[in-house]
Amino acid sequence: MKTLIKGGLVATLAGPQGDGRPLDILLDGARIVAVEHDISAESAMTIDAGSMLVMPGFVDTHRHTWQTMLRGLANDWSLGQYAKGAHATFKHLYTPSDIYIGNLLGRIEALCSGITTMLDWSHGITSPAHADAAAQGLIDAPGRSVFGYSANFGFPNNDPIDEDLRRLRTSLFTSDDGLVTLALGLRGPQYTSMEVTENDVRLARDLDLPVTMHGGSAGWGKNRPVARMYERGLLDRRTTVVHCNTIADDEIAMMGDCGCTASISPYVEIQMGFGWPATGRLLSAGIRPSLSIDTCTAVCGDMFRTMNTALIAQRGLDNDTAQSAPDQLGLRLRCRDVVEFATIEGARACGLDHKIGTIEPGKEADFIFLRMDDPTVFPVNNPLGMVAVSGHPGLVDSVMVAGHFVKRGGEMVGIDLPRLRALGLKSRDEILARAREQPGADPSLALDGRWQPSPEGYTAAAVTGRNAHD
Ligand SMILES: [Zn+2]
Repeated sequence: MKTLIKGGLVATLAGPQGDGRPLDILLDGARIVAVEHDISAESAMTIDAGSMLVMPGFVDTHRHTWQTMLRGLANDWSLGQYAKGAHATFKHLYTPSDIYIGNLLGRIEALCSGITTMLDWSHGITSPAHADAAAQGLIDAPGRSVFGYSANFGFPNNDPIDEDLRRLRTSLFTSDDGLVTLALGLRGPQYTSMEVTENDVRLARDLDLPVTMHGGSAGWGKNRPVARMYERGLLDRRTTVVHCNTIADDEIAMMGDCGCTASISPYVEIQMGFGWPATGRLLSAGIRPSLSIDTCTAVCGDMFRTMNTALIAQRGLDNDTAQSAPDQLGLRLRCRDVVEFATIEGARACGLDHKIGTIEPGKEADFIFLRMDDPTVFPVNNPLGMVAVSGHPGLVDSVMVAGHFVKRGGEMVGIDLPRLRALGLKSRDEILARAREQPGADPSLALDGRWQPSPEGYTAAAVTGRNAHD
């Protein structure tokens, strides 16, 4: 079936910026056939995109989606408090149905704000049944997802994952062509031994899976995780390093050598003290990062504020340098750069840049339609500036994945939100009740924003000390 999207302003991100005139997009099923002025196709279903900016959907390359029902809990927490609260207190109390509803609602949330592809960095998995439930939550949601399996049976995290990952590869994830595919969320040198890391990477290569790993997160990242993998030949083009704040410049150069991609989560990184976002250091090494939300326990779940934070943090750093060397220009990072980080660079990090990330013939139709007549952005004189600086989820009128609308006219399509909300609240309340029943439970444990877990034993320094023998 042919679809003609007519009359919208289109940010293709496939070449130079357009001339300000509307562009039409012709689809054949999921595939883009033409992007031109004034297409006529009489047999096609026509969609009026007048007053809309049509652009590639966003790609979030790192989100711990299982935590969705703990949203906002860590808005005032440090990294150590998050480790104690979200991981040490709640994670091991999740049942498979809790992780299922968290992933399902988290995926829907992301779609609602225009994230058409999301890598679920699934480190809430504590049994094979949890792994199946987490994957099923993504499969049951519309949208394109990568299930980043990361078993988290204990801490320090040294348990074998071979059997479980092989099982998933030969059951739910035999194909890499569907909307939901598999990757390995590598524990890596920050959280396990080099022996386990090497085994995990060899397993991923054997199963032909991409690898995504945390590297350079606050003090946890100071044990040279990238260098130690580089020395053992464990980095390649299918490796994404998440955060990169505290890895050294020579480690960033090693990533460049090996063709690794990067995922930065600027909002969380600044809030939780990971270090300044590595945007500028990565760009200097020739690596264009992708963007990620990380955890909605601590920060907002949308890509607009993530782009905005990436932009303003790096501009602050650059302007600081420019003040001490006034012959340098401050604004080296442009709005278009961060929009590309949120789209095509995300697609590249997920190994999907041949399919999505730009609007051009041959790719699949993962689009978002943003309202340019909304009073909060009207008049739109600089479309990519609007997206990067003034954009917000309220502008997302419609979302299309593989040629199908998953959101239209502001409403999610075919999703029973009242039923899912009820299931989510039930799950949240049951998790909380189980936490309160634990021996020695913190009496202040509550979800109203007052609970401040003690970070003792969970700070970056404590964890780095534990892994020092590697
Ligand atoms: Zn993370």
